[in-house]
Amino acid sequence: MVIEACGDEQSKIHEEIEKLKLIPDYYKTHPPELLKQVKELNDKYWAIERPLRVSILLCPVCFQTDKDMTYNPVRNTWYCTECYGVLKKGNEERGTPEEFP
Ligand SMILES: [Zn+2]
Repeated sequence: MVIEACGDEQSKIHEEIEKLKLIPDYYKTHPPELLKQVKELNDKYWAIERPLRVSILLCPVCFQTDKDMTYNPVRNTWYCTECYGVLKKGNEERGTPEEFP
């Protein structure tokens, strides 16, 4: 599955970041070249994470991946039907039902 492949790649990136942070100088002196590496890895991580959050694969509210999904054309985002219902109700109560048609 796509989402599992993403997860593998992300945990690899996460491990690399953790490894860099283990270097004793990291917190003491914040060497610029280390910070740069961590930033690059973070960017890589979010390059995977960002599209997942707006895609149908992952509900951006509860982060579940195995639910029935509903598309919200106003926000251009997929939500699971459960979260969609909660958000829809919340928006109706706030007087913005057009946010969740
Ligand atoms: Zn959800």
